Parts: sequence; C-alpha cells; structure tokens
Amino acid sequence: MSGVPIAQVEALVLRPPEPDRSDLDGSSETVVVSLTDEEGRVGIGEADAPAEAVRELVLMDDVHALSRGLAGMLAGRDPFELGALHDELYRGTIYHGRRGLGIHALSAVDVALHDLAARQLGRPLYQLLGGARRAAITPYATLYAGPVGERSLAEVVADLAALAQQALAVGFRAVKYEPLYEHLASDRELVASVRELRTAIGPDVTMALDFGYRWHDWRDALRALHRIEDCDVFFAEATLQHDDLAGHAKLAARVETRIGGAEFATTLSECREWLERGGVDVIQADINRCGGLTEIRRIADLAAQHGALCIPHCWKTGITAAAARHYQAATANAPIVEMFHPALFPSRLRAELTGPEPAIVDGTIVLPQEPGLGIELDPAAVERYRVV
Ligand code: MG
Repeated sequence: MSGVPIAQVEALVLRPPEPDRSDLDGSSETVVVSLTDEEGRVGIGEADAPAEAVRELVLMDDVHALSRGLAGMLAGRDPFELGALHDELYRGTIYHGRRGLGIHALSAVDVALHDLAARQLGRPLYQLLGGARRAAITPYATLYAGPVGERSLAEVVADLAALAQQALAVGFRAVKYEPLYEHLASDRELVASVRELRTAIGPDVTMALDFGYRWHDWRDALRALHRIEDCDVFFAEATLQHDDLAGHAKLAARVETRIGGAEFATTLSECREWLERGGVDVIQADINRCGGLTEIRRIADLAAQHGALCIPHCWKTGITAAAARHYQAATANAPIVEMFHPALFPSRLRAELTGPEPAIVDGTIVLPQEPGLGIELDPAAVERYRVV
C-alpha cells in the first residue's frame, strides 16, 4: 500500500495583536506548516522559531541543489516515507540549514508529515512511532509567573505557589517551577523558596525546577543543589549556561538530582555532545526545533543508551502539546512530558488555535484515540490571527 501524495504545502504565520515582547512566551506567535494530500486530508506541524523566517525557508525557491525550499521537495511525495524524506530534506537544505533555523523549519514539516501519514492510516500518531510504551500520558505543568516587574521576592514565590494550586485543580500531579527571580534572590533565598514551594504541593507531587541559566560557575550550582537535595527534585533544568558542556558534566557527576539541558539543541549530533561530553541525565531538546518526531526518537534512543531520559521542551501551541503527548506515549525513557496548559498562562494561541484539550484526571491523560495528532485547527482562530 502506498500513501496518498502531498498536493499542497502551506506555511501560515499566526500572531495575535500586541504580544508582550519582553516576556519569555514562546507562543506569542507561531508558524504552522500544513500539508494537504490529494484527497483533502491535512497534516499540521509548527516550529518554535521566528515565524516569517521559517515560512521563507519552507516556501522559498531552490537556490541550488543543496539549498532548496522544503515545499518543492514535498510536492507529490508519499508522506509515509518519513525517514527517507527526513534525510532528503536535511541534505537538500544543508547549505543553509544543518543546525538552528533550517532544522526548526524541517521540524515543522516532519511533524506535519507524521500527522498526515497517521490520518491516512486512520490511527493515532503514537502508533506510527512504534506503539504505546505506557498505559497513559503523564504531563507536567510548567509554572511560570512572568517577569518580576515591581513584585517582591515573597510575592513572586506566592504567585508560583498559587499557580501550583491551579495546576493541581486542573488535574496535574507533576509540576515544574520556574523560580526566575531575576535580581531579587541570593542563592540562600532561592534555596529557601524551593523549600517553601515543595511544602506548597506536599510530598507526593512530582517537582522539577527550571533555573533559567542562573549560574556561570558549576560550583555555585552544586552548592545550591546540594542544599535542596532533601526537596525531592525530579530534575534541575537550565542550571548553567546552555553550551557549558564541561560544567554540566562536572555538576551532573556530583549531585543526586538529575541534571537537564539541551533545550536549544538541534539534531542528534548536538544532543550526542550533550550526552557524551555534557553527561546530562535529561535531554530536553524541543520536538519542533530539534528535527521533529523523526529526530527526537533518535535522540531518545541514544539517550537511553547513555542511561538518560529524553523529556522535550514544549512551550508553544496545542500542536506541539499534542505532538509531545504522542511522543511520550511511544517512548519508554520519557516518564513525564512538559505541558504548557492554557489554564496556567494567558496565551491566546495556546488557548484558541487548536482543540479539543484533553482532560487530565489524577495526573494522567488517556492515550489518544483520534487519527493523527488528534487535534484540529480552529478556522476562526486562524482567520483572526493569520498575518500571511
Ligand atoms: Mg526551560
């Protein structure tokens, strides 16, 4: 059996008016790659990267044989040739791609190909990824209280604790605090706040921490992490500077807490460096930046060979959230998966672009049943926010 060929490739730039550019919100805009087959089925993916730049990389004319537009390579192709197409798209863009933005664009295409192929099969996407490795999805809620602004440290900590209570009410049993206090807190005060935040959720809720690249010296990070070892931290993210692999290796070798990293990494090759030289316990490459589902699966397999987990960064719209659910369903070394939930952060694209939003009951989501990603774009939201 062969698949139904791709008839149309689109790249939609979506941006609500007046996003807060000073905030850390990755969902202030998006670019959705949409692949329509000859029978009218549509597969979608998105990239977590500047929307117009990705759109240009998708739709551009070929410059030469190694600097091609992605859309031109997809026309008329069978979406089931996932691995072969990934290789071709990588090779056909290697002159300007290979890392960074070129791979971000490829990621959106790769997720859309998976969605389309699974829709043609009439099966949930995780079955294309090898099938279920777990009985249910276990999402963790990222708790980010926004830029500090005029607030005191006590007020920011109280806001994080309040967000945690909201997350528990939504159904989560795993959270990641972002104790991003900017100038407000010394390491001693940071440690005290972590203790308070653990108390706020009790001992049974899984708790991870994202330190937002706080330290430049692994010994400072080491001292702080030693002092919170009794807080049962599932992983510590963004402790040191992103590309300080030597520092990560020294830190990871000396603390009990899992050390995470690589949220900005693209490709298996970069993530291999994080595993071999960085020695991290958790690879956090983003599905819609690292090379899509094809690449994150290779990364997860390699992480497993190093005794590490692969829990992708995930802060975009419902498209990315859905891709992450299918990834976790099919991946043994992803015991939890990040979920940027619309009830916990005011993002119009996250709340309005896709539906339905799955229920979280007692910390878990049932395995998706619908074909493909199992979500649909809301045409009214697309019309509202489409720029080009
Ligand atoms: Mg992060």
